[in-house]
Amino acid sequence: MASSSATAAALVWFRRDLRLHDNPALWAAVRSGRPLVCAFIDDPDAVAQLAPGRASRWWLHHSLAALSRSIRQRGGQLVLRRGDTTSELVRLCGETGSSEVFWNRGDNPTRDSGDTALAARLADRGVKARGFASGTLFNPATHLNGSGKPYRVFTPFWKACLRAPEPSAALPAPDRLPGAAVTASDNLEDWSLRPQAPDWASGFSQDWEPGEDGALNRLEAFLANELADYPQSRDRPDEDGTSRLSPHLAWGEISPRTIWHTVRDHAERGGSFQGGEKFLSELGWRDFAIYLAHHFGSLRDENFNRQFDHFPWRSNPAGLDAWKRGQTGIPIVDAGMRQLWTTGWMHNRVRMITASFLIKHLGVHWRDGMAWFEDTLVDADLNVNAASWQWVAGSGADAAPYFRIFNPVTQGERFDPQGLYVHRWVPELTGLSGKAVHAPWTRPANELIAAGISLGQTYPAPVTDLKTGREQALDAYQTMKARA
Ligand code: FAD
Repeated sequence: MASSSATAAALVWFRRDLRLHDNPALWAAVRSGRPLVCAFIDDPDAVAQLAPGRASRWWLHHSLAALSRSIRQRGGQLVLRRGDTTSELVRLCGETGSSEVFWNRGDNPTRDSGDTALAARLADRGVKARGFASGTLFNPATHLNGSGKPYRVFTPFWKACLRAPEPSAALPAPDRLPGAAVTASDNLEDWSLRPQAPDWASGFSQDWEPGEDGALNRLEAFLANELADYPQSRDRPDEDGTSRLSPHLAWGEISPRTIWHTVRDHAERGGSFQGGEKFLSELGWRDFAIYLAHHFGSLRDENFNRQFDHFPWRSNPAGLDAWKRGQTGIPIVDAGMRQLWTTGWMHNRVRMITASFLIKHLGVHWRDGMAWFEDTLVDADLNVNAASWQWVAGSGADAAPYFRIFNPVTQGERFDPQGLYVHRWVPELTGLSGKAVHAPWTRPANELIAAGISLGQTYPAPVTDLKTGREQALDAYQTMKARA
């Protein structure tokens, strides 16, 4: 069905790689010298569990709009199709006479095996699939320990990566994308990727500029303003000390190796490399999550440490609901959950605190928290999210030990010492300052009255007593050990 002539179009299938620069599949298609068909397929029947959550779909809408503009500026067209991926790719090949489909391989194990099957189905119809790697700094298939087994601990994994040759240089964006004859495209608006009524994402646009220009601008701003202090300020939710590149990375609007080389070049251009090592090692954690999934399968569904299959999780729908709504009565937890709802993002330190509180103090399975994050984060990344939840739960690879339970009050006092982060997201508590804001239930009645706070009325009383919650968590851990 597809034409084999040298001038047949080359089909570039965009996925979570919504960028023109450092896009190996696009680059190879351009170099083939053929007219291009650039396509994105929204497949509602794609393994349902891998479909993006609602906040991520908001991002996707804007990212596709930005990609479409950039392609048009270079003489091409982004074709949008909704339907079964194989059928749509085959149909597009038929419509445009394409004989080859270029794509960047997914970094999700489920999707990767789907890629192989898809390539075989395309081959049956005379279409050649050309896959490229682009999602990680280092190839997850390489780097094994001395016994030839995959690493389970981050530090030796990362040391092995750093001993390997540096990631290769990033590719430039092609100047021209000569489009094949225009083919029919869906209208992005008709996909209704953005929430309608209520429009709970209305605040997102203030914080984010989806698209690769937004990603590159964000990186430049971070290098100029925040990189040098990153090792100290990255843990402070009351400061803008991190890059906020995560949603751009999750949608592939910037590649990790572009970040790697830009950070290194920044130092060579006379900027500081102070903070660079720490920052790049955080990107290493992202690689590690993908590496684990590559070698051990997805961490979304099962405990990495199977001992945790015996964990006595509690049924606590009221606690889970209060947590989701930022109404637990624990200020730093509520601040984090409201930041998540309002902006689609949460600071890493607070992700750890809120996840620990849900899992340990409320006894709720990490999978429930993971699912909420998948739905509400604009940076939701199935591998990183699952690995991080299991890290907090103690069930993951190189995880924090379960019995090391974060105290949200002392965490708040340490990382938000003036209570500014809590004030921003929990304005009911602005009458309290400093340490007091992190534990309003410990304050004398006259202080609360002066601050305009009535616990249980203007702000919830704690959904659980922290000491009791901690003891219950430790008991549950002992029960698991006895059962395992
Ligand atoms: P920076 O500090 O600027 O770091 C730069 C990049 O390094 C990030 O964009 C990210 O790609 C990577 N990175 C940083 N910290 C980590 C980490 N601990 N693990 C893996 N990669 C990291 N990150 C996601 O991208 N998607 C998720 O779905 C996600 N879910 C999480 C769930 C929990 C419970 C926890 C504790 C962490 C989760 N993280 C997730 C990791 C981390 O919180 C975010 O990557 C980070 O907060 C993003 O902000 P940033 O881009 O400013 O990070």
